[in-house]
Amino acid sequence: MGCRGEAGKRGLIRIVRRAEGGAMVDSTGRATGRGAYLHDDPACIELARKRRALDRALRTTIQPELWSELVK
Ligand SMILES: [Zn+2]
Repeated sequence: MGCRGEAGKRGLIRIVRRAEGGAMVDSTGRATGRGAYLHDDPACIELARKRRALDRALRTTIQPELWSELVK
């Protein structure tokens, strides 16, 4: 998402907006609500964080804790 990497070559992480604000990793792939995908790649995750791509896609403010979780 927002990067120039080729989709499909790497794994994708699904992120969904939480009702209470912010977002979470949807590890089951079945959570309801607005969702977005990120490549499971530290460079892509960092790019999305810097560009606020997820914030825009999910129309929320991504909490710092989620980014910490994503990059570990
Ligand atoms: Zn990517």
